[in-house]
Amino acid sequence: MDYSTIVDIFNEMEATSKRTELTDLIVRLLKSTPKELIDKVVYLMLGRLRPEYEGIELGIADKMALRALSISSGIDMKRVEEMYVRRGDIGEAAEEALSKRLQAVLFKDRLTVERVYSTLEKVAMLKGEGSQDAKIRYICNLLNDAEPREGKYILKIVTGRLRLGIADYTLLDALAVAFTDSKENRSILERAYNLTSDLGFVAKMLVYGGLDAVKAIRMELFRPIRPMLAERVSSAEEALERMGGRCAAEYKLDGERLQIHKHDGRVKIFSRRLEDITSHYPDAVDAIAGIRARDLIVEGEAVAINQDTQEYLPFQELMHRRRKYGIEEAMKEYPIALNLFDILYIDGKECIDLPYMERRRILENLISGVESSNSSNSINSSIVSIVPMLIVSDAKSIEDYMFKAINEGCEGLMIKDLNSPYRAGARGYAWIKLKREYKSELADTLDLVIVGAFHGRGRRAGRYGALLLASYNREDDTFYTTCKVGTGFTDEDLERFHAMLNPYIIKHRHARVNSRLDADVWFEPRMVIEVIASEITLSPLHTCALNVIREGNGLALRFPKFTGRIRDDKSAEDATSVDEIVSMYRRQLKVIRQTQTGIEEDVGREGE
Ligand code: AMP
Repeated sequence: MDYSTIVDIFNEMEATSKRTELTDLIVRLLKSTPKELIDKVVYLMLGRLRPEYEGIELGIADKMALRALSISSGIDMKRVEEMYVRRGDIGEAAEEALSKRLQAVLFKDRLTVERVYSTLEKVAMLKGEGSQDAKIRYICNLLNDAEPREGKYILKIVTGRLRLGIADYTLLDALAVAFTDSKENRSILERAYNLTSDLGFVAKMLVYGGLDAVKAIRMELFRPIRPMLAERVSSAEEALERMGGRCAAEYKLDGERLQIHKHDGRVKIFSRRLEDITSHYPDAVDAIAGIRARDLIVEGEAVAINQDTQEYLPFQELMHRRRKYGIEEAMKEYPIALNLFDILYIDGKECIDLPYMERRRILENLISGVESSNSSNSINSSIVSIVPMLIVSDAKSIEDYMFKAINEGCEGLMIKDLNSPYRAGARGYAWIKLKREYKSELADTLDLVIVGAFHGRGRRAGRYGALLLASYNREDDTFYTTCKVGTGFTDEDLERFHAMLNPYIIKHRHARVNSRLDADVWFEPRMVIEVIASEITLSPLHTCALNVIREGNGLALRFPKFTGRIRDDKSAEDATSVDEIVSMYRRQLKVIRQTQTGIEEDVGREGE
């Protein structure tokens, strides 16, 4: 197939802004493509060489592409760069430079799609020392035989700049029209695409085997499945109504979604965007490799945790995992918990068409197996668990569960239809996300009393891993717990705290301390420290202002952090009071409402 055939159509595609026209052009291109090239032409149209999940990147730097252009055109680098700056588009710069080529090329070899594709493949595969020169040579080799408009698309593709604006679904429409004569069949193609995430593969199956072959496509290990997505509603009532009055509420964790494939000991992890991110999570790989199923596809959320308190940390902490080098250190420094929430495949059995509850049961069985093998320490799967879930049938239970989830560091809840299959690639109301609709950083710091502590683990073994903090209520002269804090301490702080708190250790919870949590060590309420937090939330775990705002809930700090300041200038009774926390919470709500309604008002004065 002549490369110029696709180039001419690419040119037309770039010129149109109408979706129907674009679809027609894709249909024309697909129809003029020989069967054996169909997958390659599909990838090229999308500006790639392979399905995205294979991670084959062309992404040649502009400088390198321009150097090839300079060599091939005989125009010096400075002028080529000027052309690029003036045109603002590397493809157009290539077109101009090649049309002003200094030496006319007398004998050109034919440029075919096959040749362009296989050369680009070589360019993508070259790695390491000397690869730059070799890449330039390959690109020159193509440019030397290219007409100016062909050169335009060669440079666009190698620099990753081909943007024809073809959405996956437009391509599916076009495939249906080109090879089945009816757009109606798109849903059959779409199903196959959702299961394979590979449009080239679906196109190939279609041209060789027709719709029957496409219908027979199944999910496969190590080929990511397009993830099921959730719709959003703004209230528990609405969620419940959509679900027909009864549903599952799962914690919505704030981490990174992982789709994990396993066969024997081999494990691969895909991101939500289906990139291969196996190398970011060696600990998850180990944990899943140790699970007793031979074949497995599961989904879960990796969340950064504080190893001492086992509390979830904000999503940003996971960013440290996104690195090429030093992942072993990052793994130790930023440990994760892997909370599985779905199972798509196990030991030869597809699970996606099973209803939610059945999938959940299979997952629960699998994880209970993990937990029991943990006790013998045979495998490192302790980081794996199943996401907490509650079956709910009234709005109040949803709200209570949501406060609990938020208090434990989650974003909110995922409400799930008990009977729904796993709808790959679909966003719908079978999953509904119920999030806190606001985010506001508490501006004020709080001074809280240390009333208890929890033993440290890992790096903090032998010291305190987290402290239990309380606010003070003058009316009944009692300290009410407000949070557990494990963040913000340096190694010296930890040493210091151990020594400083020693004299205050008591055998039982202090009589003036009201706590629902059971600390490992209790103290006489004496020492006050300063903390900051992201916000104040309702919590069933803490006793500060219990039942004041909401029945069964107290107020707690979300993501509390020690500021480094010990308030030895304050006595325990000088600590931030329960009343102050209540008014901070109310103020925060007011700010949130205003942000939502867009009203600007000075609320900082309230409570003054
Ligand atoms: P959003 O990114 O806000 O559209 O929410 C969807 C994302 O929430 C998913 O892609 C997952 O990464 C994440 N998530 C956290 N917890 C769950 C859960 N229990 N079930 C499904 N997705 C979850």
